[in-house]
This record gives sequence, C-alpha cells and structure tokens, in this order.
Amino acid sequence: MIVSTSANVNVSQLRRELLRISARYPVDVALQKENIYRKAKRLVVMDLDSTLIQMEIIDELAKLAGVGREVAKITKSAMGGEIDFRQSLVKRVSLLKGMKTGLLQQVYDNAAFTPGAKKFIRILKKLGYKTAVISGGFDFFTSRFKNDLGLDYAFANKLEVKDGLLTGRVVGAVIDSEKKADILQMIARNESISLEQIIAIGDGANDLLMLEQAGLGIAFNAQKKVREAASYSISQRNIDTILFLLGIDEKALVDIV
Ligand SMILES: [Mg+2]
Repeated sequence: MIVSTSANVNVSQLRRELLRISARYPVDVALQKENIYRKAKRLVVMDLDSTLIQMEIIDELAKLAGVGREVAKITKSAMGGEIDFRQSLVKRVSLLKGMKTGLLQQVYDNAAFTPGAKKFIRILKKLGYKTAVISGGFDFFTSRFKNDLGLDYAFANKLEVKDGLLTGRVVGAVIDSEKKADILQMIARNESISLEQIIAIGDGANDLLMLEQAGLGIAFNAQKKVREAASYSISQRNIDTILFLLGIDEKALVDIV
C-alpha cells in the first residue's frame, strides 16, 4: 500500500507506532520509503545462525563437547546484546578446547535451514542479486552453506586446529558487529553497489550495525532489542516472506519459480 505523507511527518515515530501495532496482532508492518531504490536492490547479506539456519551452531558444538548449558547461556546474552560479542565468542570457543574436528561435520550434517531459505536464495539468484553470508560463527560451516546454496560470498571466524583438535582459540580478528558492517561495505565496494541497494538480514545484537548500513536492514525473528532498533522487522516462520519487502509478490513469483 502506498501512502502519501507530508514532508514533515516524523518517520521514526510513525515506525514505532506501527511496531506497537504489529506486536499486538499477528502481522508484520513495514514502512518503506517509495523511491527508485526500493525495487533496485542488488545485494543481500545475511547472518547465518538463527537467520539462514534454525540453530546456533556454537551451542550444538558445545553440547557435543559437554559444555552445552554454559555456552547456550552466553550465546543468549550475546545475541540479546547484554554482553560484548567478541568477549563472548572468545569465552565460548575456549570452552570447546580439545574437541575433535570430526564433530564439526556432525553438526553441519544435522543443521536445518530456516523454512523458505532455499527458495529465497534461488529466487534472489534468478533475479540477479548477489548474495553473501556474514557470520560471527565459523568458516567450516559458512563455506559449506555457501556451496550448498550457491552464495557469492561467505565470511566467518576460523577455529584454530592442532592435531585434529580445537585449540580453543580463533585465528585472527573476531568477526564482531563492527567487522560485519565493515565486510558489508567491502563487498559493496567490490561489486560497485551503493549501500542503498543492499538488503541486510539478521537476528542478533551483533547484526545491528550491519542492518543500519544497508538500505533495507531487516531484523528477522529477532530478539526484542534488535527488533526495536532495526528499521524493519519480520516475525514469520518463513524467511522467503522477505521477498514481499522487495516488492516481489505472489503474482510475480509465478513467473519466476
Ligand atoms: Mg544470528
């Protein structure tokens, strides 16, 4: 629905009001500025855990390492923005010290995509969008999901391994929320795409900077703090509902699928 507004309308106040309404009823309300960029998006960057897949990989690794409860508690606080992401990751990875790398494959094999994820990516690719996953998780997984889905880019942390065992450390700088935003900018420069033409999707507090940078930043089934800070919020089971925000409706999909 396109609504004309006067120039002096307070958009953030209007957005807050709509968010309040959508919290009360089982609907998502998105307020978008109608301009040339709305339908000219060219790059989609996504978080992995609890966005493209339906789990937090580090929590699954921790269960196999016998530290499931401790790690899950830290993950929850980090995603809710209560604690620093970088410190939380260093702590959680340290608890995985001594874990056999073979168990990573087991977690990958049991990972489930978010409903609609494969369809979502397939349609984006058909429409010529570039796709990227930027994860605060681990490259062992993102490289495999990149392959599975045919994504253009994948970025994540690298777990240090010695003699087939995790050392409890990551190699190089941790991909935290600043780094996620930096990588988004780097891909944009690389592809000569303006930030206005980027869609970013994520659920955690460490995605907020990345969401803010993009022309369309979407909190997907996100925690309250993220939902309220992001410009757009979707609370639907299926991730492909985001296609509607790109102006791709059911009618158009008939031609694509
Ligand atoms: Mg996430």
